[in-house]
Amino acid sequence: MPDVDADLARAWVAAVAASVTAHAAELTDLDAAIGDGDHGVNLRRGFDAAVAALAGFEADTAGAVLTKTGTTLVSKVGGASGPLYGSLFRALGKSLPAEVDAVAFGDGLRAGLDAIVRLGKAVPGDKTMVDALTPAVDAYAAAAPAGFAAAARAASAAAGEGAAATTPLQARKGRASYLGERSAGHQDPGATSTALIFAALAAVSDA
Ligand code: ADP
Ligand code: MG
Repeated sequence: MPDVDADLARAWVAAVAASVTAHAAELTDLDAAIGDGDHGVNLRRGFDAAVAALAGFEADTAGAVLTKTGTTLVSKVGGASGPLYGSLFRALGKSLPAEVDAVAFGDGLRAGLDAIVRLGKAVPGDKTMVDALTPAVDAYAAAAPAGFAAAARAASAAAGEGAAATTPLQARKGRASYLGERSAGHQDPGATSTALIFAALAAVSDA
């Protein structure tokens, strides 16, 4: 049996939708502090649309489910985060083979990170989602030999730490960069939502 099949991918997207709904106010407050206050609304709209699109979508593989998720995010989310997360899920989905083991999923996450960096040109330390995603992908890869659930838990912990570490940083990409020094002292909303995405992955990997 593959570690990550179409049902697990669907469960992950549904868990992300539930989590961004539960944390929408927190994400919006973080974005109100250093952006324009729409991050919670953007992600809620995007992941709810992804769940709806998947409900009518026949797919046998995790790759097809995650590619569809990415395409939906790109088309439904207006903010910077829609194209960025859309690219992540599309690159992840397209990179996965038909049978996905723990290591192949880690390679897919790396392809997703590369796609976000290609599009947004952020590097670690710029106070963006890349600050949570980079350590998450690295931690996943390091733990992948121990299996999918262990790797997902390691990625979730690393994403949470990466998000927390954005607080003192000054933003160099995205809307928050317009604030200059005043962007310091607030956790980045996109890094925070990346931590939610990996927490959801860890949750479904244990189910
Ligand atoms: P917008 O900034 O258009 O309102 P959102 O509020 O949905 O979009 O998303 C903001 C988040 O997007 C930021 O907190 C940051 O993590 C992420 N972000 C913005 N620009 C970039 C970029 N160039 N590269 C990576 N992430 C970025
Ligand atoms: Mg915003």
